[in-house]
Amino acid sequence: MEGGRDPLTRALNRRFLPAILGREVTFAKENGTALSVMLVDIDHFKAINDRHGHQVGDEVLRQVAQVIVGNVRATDFVFRYGGEEFLIVLVETGIEAAANIAERIRADMEGHIFETGSSGGLSVTASIGIALHSGHPDQKFLIKAADEALYRAKAAGRNTVELAPIYGEGGKGIWPLAT
Ligand code: GH3
Ligand code: MG
Ligand code: MG
Repeated sequence: MEGGRDPLTRALNRRFLPAILGREVTFAKENGTALSVMLVDIDHFKAINDRHGHQVGDEVLRQVAQVIVGNVRATDFVFRYGGEEFLIVLVETGIEAAANIAERIRADMEGHIFETGSSGGLSVTASIGIALHSGHPDQKFLIKAADEALYRAKAAGRNTVELAPIYGEGGKGIWPLAT
């Protein structure tokens, strides 16, 4: 790690996530702005490594990060959250805008030819879960909501975007959009 970024993907190291998300949650609360979190996980990535080797996997990961960065604003935060999983903090972004960004990333990923040299052009897809900050003070709650949406995207067959329910007054889940 240099400068807090992962050298392979240039994404932010997840150790900065609590500080950055904490700051953005405070900003959203004080300014009445929306804040969304998106989790992007590559589908069947293990198979890429198994078939083509770890180096090709690394090259795919690098380009996946580029596809993500190319679809968010310079003011958003892209973290490498797991091996082949990215967490994006979408500042001043409501759930509909987040859903549009997620769908764009999903479609771009599906259409992208990942040039790998030795293994030629590969195709990969990603599953995406998004959640809107509901005012809950614990940021883990927000990440958990995005993670549950991601889990549903995987269960729904992958290469898809799922939204977390929005928690209204009294903790009731309200589905934000029909998908
Ligand atoms: P799913 O669709 O359920 O997400 O399947 P998956 O294969 O993507 O998920 P799984 O969690 O089973 O495998 C993730 C793989 O990602 C396993 C691990 O070896 C690989 N991986 C994690 N970090 C890196 C990395 O930095 N480079 C490479 N080449 N592979 C990595
Ligand atoms: Mg995966
Ligand atoms: Mg994963």
